[in-house]
Amino acid sequence: MFNGILITKDDTGYRAQVQPIDEAVLSEGDVTVSVEWSTLNYKDGLAITGKAPVVRRFPMVPGIDFAGTVIASSNPAWQVGERVLLNGWGVGETHCGGLAELARVKGEWLVALPDTFTARQAMAIGTAGYTAMLCVLALEKHGIQPKDGEILVTGANGGVGSVAIALLAKLGYQVVASTGRVSEGEHLKALGAAEVIDRQVLAAPGKPIGKERWAGVIDTVGSHTLANACATTKYRGAVAACGLAGGMDFPATVAPFILRGVTLYGIDSVMAPLAVRHEAWARLGQDLDIVRLERITCEIGLSEAIEVAAQLLDGKVRGRVVVNVQGGRSPS
Ligand code: NDP
Repeated sequence: MFNGILITKDDTGYRAQVQPIDEAVLSEGDVTVSVEWSTLNYKDGLAITGKAPVVRRFPMVPGIDFAGTVIASSNPAWQVGERVLLNGWGVGETHCGGLAELARVKGEWLVALPDTFTARQAMAIGTAGYTAMLCVLALEKHGIQPKDGEILVTGANGGVGSVAIALLAKLGYQVVASTGRVSEGEHLKALGAAEVIDRQVLAAPGKPIGKERWAGVIDTVGSHTLANACATTKYRGAVAACGLAGGMDFPATVAPFILRGVTLYGIDSVMAPLAVRHEAWARLGQDLDIVRLERITCEIGLSEAIEVAAQLLDGKVRGRVVVNVQGGRSPS
């Protein structure tokens, strides 16, 4: 038995609770990992609260990412004692995830923990930070350079948004942060934002095309915000869309794409190929300021994770949350 969060669904309802879990509950896999740190991402909030049908199999251990040490492996790529991390692949949705002391997964899903990070730091980055890096890479590969102008980041106080701001600022970009919490403006400026705008500016239905402002956009919100961001992106600029915190719809026209040559990149972290993951984690090691990351990270134990998951969905959490899965058992 090991300790973890277990989600169950039956006639009496949908429940998530911290409890002892039998190893038999774990999903199939050829590598077993002693999980030290996990995180709370938006999707974990949906899974734990049951607000969206993220979990597809019951009982389920939530947690779309984790970092820890291999304790058993029949996969030749991984040896006992190696330090690993995992993001996505349906873990925490269809395959038992990281918010428990043990995880059993396929070896090909794992990435070696980069030397540049401790397990805790890797999870302070987590899937949110790794996704932020995928967005930055998309803008870079499009050819957008700091001299091209302002980059808009929406959902700025969230996990993806905060890490995106820190990354872009370190790379020399001029970042405009859009947030519903303008009162946190000083915090966003300390992270590297040059300007903070109220998200209401982008949230209402807008015109098909507007005044050109953004060289690039990282959007975590979707809906009218994404449509307005596209409509105000400069000629041949690019928008990296990764989230739906404001809605899954996309009430836009083709005008920005056919009149301004704007490119809309879809960013998916869950099934991204290993080569893409390796590139993103290597770049995080190079371009993320660990001191800034620590400033936006708060640490909780498994017992607090269920309550904080609901707060995350209510937009009450700032930055990143790391979960100390082994509690007082001194993880590294
Ligand atoms: P967080 O909960 O940490 O942040 C989301 C932020 O979005 C909030 O902090 C808030 O920022 C803003 N927000 C919340 N509700 C609304 C709303 N109704 N309208 C406008 N803005 C809103 O989530 P993450 O950063 O972890 O994830 C952000 C999004 O990215 C989610 O939709 C998530 O599902 C998605 N995602 C996608 C991935 C992929 O592979 N494509 C991977 C990881 C995340 P503020 O207070 O500053 O306004």
